[in-house]
Amino acid sequence: MSLFAWVAIVPYVNTSSFHTHTRLCKHASGEPAEYVLQATKDGCSALGFSDHCPYPDDATWPGSRMSVRDVSLYREQVLSLRQDTPFPIYYGFECEWFPLYESWYRDFIRGECGAEYVVYGSHWVRDAGEFWYIPEAAEKRLLGSYLDLTLQALETGLYDLFAHPDIFLAGYTRMDSDIQNACQQIIASAIHHDIPMEINGLGLKKPFVCGDSGLRPPYPVREFWEMAADMGAKIVCCSDAHRSEDVIAGARFAKAQADEWGIQTMDPYEVLGLPSVLYP
Ligand SMILES: [Zn+2]
Ligand SMILES: [Zn+2]
Repeated sequence: MSLFAWVAIVPYVNTSSFHTHTRLCKHASGEPAEYVLQATKDGCSALGFSDHCPYPDDATWPGSRMSVRDVSLYREQVLSLRQDTPFPIYYGFECEWFPLYESWYRDFIRGECGAEYVVYGSHWVRDAGEFWYIPEAAEKRLLGSYLDLTLQALETGLYDLFAHPDIFLAGYTRMDSDIQNACQQIIASAIHHDIPMEINGLGLKKPFVCGDSGLRPPYPVREFWEMAADMGAKIVCCSDAHRSEDVIAGARFAKAQADEWGIQTMDPYEVLGLPSVLYP
C-alpha cells in the first residue's frame, strides 16, 4: 500500500463516539439512520445514541427534551439499524441528575425503556426554586450547589459516562482556588467511581470565552484536562453531535485537541465495555 493510502486511512481507524443526539430532542436535526450513514462514511468503529432523556409528563424543559411518547420510536429506530451496520450501535440516553427524579432515571429510563448505557450530562443547577443553566452561571453562590449535585450524581451508580465534566468552566472562567478545588473533587470522584470523562467536540465549536490566559473554548478547558490526566482519570473523546455531519468528525476534532494538549485518551467503546451487539 502506498504511503498516501495509509495517510488517508490512519485518521479513520478506531473512532467511536457515544454522545449522539437526534431530532427527537427538538434541538438537534436528523434521524438515527442519517447519523449511522454518515458514521459509516466516516469510518466509525462503534456508535452510541444518547439523546436527551424525557421527563415525567414532559413537564421539564419540554422544548429541548424528548417527549415521553417518542421513546419507543427512538428505541425502535436505533435498534433496527443494528442489522445492516458493520459496527456496533448502542441505545442510550443523556440524563441530568436531580434527586427528585431518581426513580425516573433508574426505573423508567434504565428499567422500562431498557437504556443500554446512560450518559451524565450536567447542564442545570437548582437554586432558590429555579433552574440555572450552568454554562451561563458565574456566581460563586451556585458553585457549591452545582458541585454537590455533580458529586451526588457520580455516587448514584446510574451513569456510565460523564459528558463535558468541565462545562461549568464556561461561566467560571477564572481558575482561582475555589474553581481548582471543584475541578479536583469532580475528577477524584469520577476516578473513584470508575466513570470515564468526555472531552466534548461540540464545546470546541462554541463561541470562545475569555479565560485566565486569553480566549478559549467555553469547554473543554485545558487546565481541567491536564489535572484529570495527572490524577489518572479515564479520558475519552465524543462528538456530542446534534447534526449528522458532526457524528464522527466532532469526536475526531476533540481527539485532535487532546493530542495537541498532550492528553492521553482512550477509545470510549473499549472503555465502556458494553456487551457485544454485532450481528454475525
Ligand atoms: Zn443538546
Ligand atoms: Zn449531549
